[in-house]
Amino acid sequence: MTTNNDILIKVEGLKKYFGNNEVLKGINAEIHKGDVMVVIGASGSGKSTFLRCLNLLEEPTDGKIIFDGIDINDRNVDINLHRRKMGMVFQQFNLFPHMTVLKNMILGPVKLLKKSKEEATKEAMELLERVGLADRANDYPSQLSGGQKQRVAIVRALCMNPEVMLFDEPTSALDPEMVGEVLEVMKRLAKDGMTMVVVTHEMGFAREVGTNVVFVDKGVIVEQAPPQEFFTNPKNDRLKEFLSKVF
Ligand code: ADP
Ligand code: MG
Repeated sequence: MTTNNDILIKVEGLKKYFGNNEVLKGINAEIHKGDVMVVIGASGSGKSTFLRCLNLLEEPTDGKIIFDGIDINDRNVDINLHRRKMGMVFQQFNLFPHMTVLKNMILGPVKLLKKSKEEATKEAMELLERVGLADRANDYPSQLSGGQKQRVAIVRALCMNPEVMLFDEPTSALDPEMVGEVLEVMKRLAKDGMTMVVVTHEMGFAREVGTNVVFVDKGVIVEQAPPQEFFTNPKNDRLKEFLSKVF
């Protein structure tokens, strides 16, 4: 059983317009501590926009996002402080190409968290160790495979000690043989209790790791259920159609 105290993020009536284009049409969602919310939906349905609103990479047009009990759209909220609590992993890795793996990782902790270089390095090396990449610390991103880059991107986000991790199709840009190693890291993270919101087309991951799965259709969450129910007993017609295409 979860109680209200466990709610980490509460989204109420979230709307986002780009010009006249209403991309999010009133999203309601609750993410509890330790949840792995998997978001699926067709291309263009608003999944990335939803994630980007959560960490204020996009400014919501209307609605509320309550994070840790605080409305993050309140003008008094320190946006940068808020963003630090949310790690984000993108499809395209977004590592700094001119910095080594280690430098990529310690930049945030040193600059933003004011950690000493020694401490940040120690923590970064421990995280690299955990994903089997300690020996690549002095390499540049261009020397790594896509799967390795994405594993670095994940532990780089973890260096900032986020309260939640947002993943936007983290395996979509990878060659098929590298998808597994990245999903494995995400699986372990979930097992360790990290709160996660994951946009993905990996239905196996959704089934196995998701605590709940939501289907976004044209800017609205039209179905939301634990994976077992979601996949075996979909109710919405558009979801049925979507699932028949991805399986
Ligand atoms: P998804 O991630 O589900 O594929 P997106 O959230 O990326 O969908 O996009 C949803 C819609 O919003 C699309 O029609 C897209 O063209 C539009 N959109 C997204 N970002 C912007 C932007 N920065 N400016 C204008 N339109 C945008
Ligand atoms: Mg997207």
